Amino acid sequence: MTDRFIPITDLRPGASLPVIPSPPTAPTGYLADARQRPLHDLRISVTDRCNFRCTYCMPKSVFDRTYAFLPQRSLLSFEEITRLARIFLAHGVTKIRITGGEPLLRKNIERLIEMLAGLRTVDGFAPDLTLTTNGSLLRRKARTLRAAGLGRLTVSLDALDDTVFRAMNDVDFPVTDVLDGIDAAVEAGFGPVKVNMVVKRGINDDQILPVSEHFRGSGHIVRFIEFMDVGATNGWRLDDIVPSAEVLRRIGERHPIVPIDPNYPGEVAQRWRYADGNGEIGVISSVTRPFCQDCSRARLSTEGKLYSCLFATSGHDLRELVRSGHDDTEIAGAIAHVWARRDDHYSETRSNDTLGLRKVEMSYIGG
Ligand code: SAM
Ligand code: SF4
Ligand code: SF4
Repeated sequence: MTDRFIPITDLRPGASLPVIPSPPTAPTGYLADARQRPLHDLRISVTDRCNFRCTYCMPKSVFDRTYAFLPQRSLLSFEEITRLARIFLAHGVTKIRITGGEPLLRKNIERLIEMLAGLRTVDGFAPDLTLTTNGSLLRRKARTLRAAGLGRLTVSLDALDDTVFRAMNDVDFPVTDVLDGIDAAVEAGFGPVKVNMVVKRGINDDQILPVSEHFRGSGHIVRFIEFMDVGATNGWRLDDIVPSAEVLRRIGERHPIVPIDPNYPGEVAQRWRYADGNGEIGVISSVTRPFCQDCSRARLSTEGKLYSCLFATSGHDLRELVRSGHDDTEIAGAIAHVWARRDDHYSETRSNDTLGLRKVEMSYIGG
């Protein structure tokens, strides 16, 4: 019924119809962009809705009762998502992350997980299938997600203090329920969970130590994320970020830490471990130490637009290709055409001039 509402501004940017090369060439399992970066990761946003209103992501002032979320018919169906994912895998994708909005709000999400888990990479392996969630529904869903074939989970948690946590999600959601969701994930058989904490100065930077100490020795890996100027609604200012170097200094002063090697070249998080053997933490320094140079991520929005960068101002309408009857080779050709021309490196060029760009919202494109 939400399509009754007329949004004051539609925050979803336009999209172009991708070019289908003639004749389209079949995927070879490897694509390089204009900066010689391969296509390895696909992030799929399965809903633009969320039960939280994190002030830095979906501020209530914008995402209120009058906001026009996508109507059901605009969403890619599970069959459409799976078909596109299969084509991306044929191009060399090995890792798929399900995100949103809040992905666990999408009805029967377990069915989609099952369908994606049945796909194979060009090397014949199941894709590395992972999901990012605010954790609010995990107690209810962890077991079925695991049974459906989900490999890993990332849970966002911006504070341990209940008052700070409730203020950040802005819907008065208690932190204990998210912590319980993480326990449920472990009980369901998920290994160590990654815990993402976005740090905003003056809002939750006093939570860096409590959150790190809560998970110290638990096996879970907390990753501290620099607050980014995603979208056009979060009122980002450089002063709001707490540079990762400062996060590491604050933790290291209390519990000595030492750097460790990346799991693979181009890993987004820089890894550290407690010198006393009590586990690992990470920092994601998108602002102070951009990692565009190794960025191999494509994003598929809830309504099937392909974005080649988190900070893109427009996408490529794959849903239109799917719904107008193009075959897999043609769609694969269109994706290859987009990727070959990809020159995005926003975080390396961020400045006051780029802040005003009409960028796509994180809740729509997926984090
Ligand atoms: N709702 C799910 C969640 O919160 O985990 C998945 C979607 S959310 C957009 C994905 C991640 O993006 C979350 O960890 C969130 O904290 C992060 N995020 C959102 N806005 C951000 C911003 N402006 N800067 C940095 N991270 C942000
Ligand atoms: Fe929702 Fe996640 Fe955005 Fe918070 S960060 S508003 S939980 S989509
Ligand atoms: Fe990748 Fe764009 Fe982020 Fe750079 S700014 S790391 S190109 S998503």
